[in-house]
Amino acid sequence: MDADRTAWEQRSVVRVIAPVEPRKLAKVPFVELADGRLQGVVSSGSDIERVYVSSITAGSLAMSCSTNNNRPCGALHGYACKHVRLLADEAILQYGLDRVARYLRVEADPGTGLNLNGPVERTPAAVVFSRFLRHLAYLEVPDSTEPLAELHWFPAMGAVR
Ligand SMILES: [Zn+2]
Repeated sequence: MDADRTAWEQRSVVRVIAPVEPRKLAKVPFVELADGRLQGVVSSGSDIERVYVSSITAGSLAMSCSTNNNRPCGALHGYACKHVRLLADEAILQYGLDRVARYLRVEADPGTGLNLNGPVERTPAAVVFSRFLRHLAYLEVPDSTEPLAELHWFPAMGAVR
């Protein structure tokens, strides 16, 4: 029992890295450089019930966008949809243009930002979305040093569907 308790306590210690610039959390609640991708969650402009999981793969710059229920984004074909563009913009605010460009292995252009011209590729949304839900749970209690009972947050999943 004591070992379990320690594990909870360790998991509830999260380092929140301050963004380079203030971000619009409501538009892009989650952005990260992970798994060889710039990936994150973007709110739908038209439907507050819906979110998109968007990503850009390092190197190939392949773009992916789908809803959290894995429905492909209809606006992503041939060029970046607004979700992918918003994700890139927010990543630049969060990490700075140089860092994002280095991670994606592209040239950074201070004038135009990132040149998003990669192919369309469908990557599963589920992994990114579950990382988002964990992140969200931690954000809700930013100053807590108490162990987080993560199961407590599962009812909240309905709210971000
Ligand atoms: Zn999209």
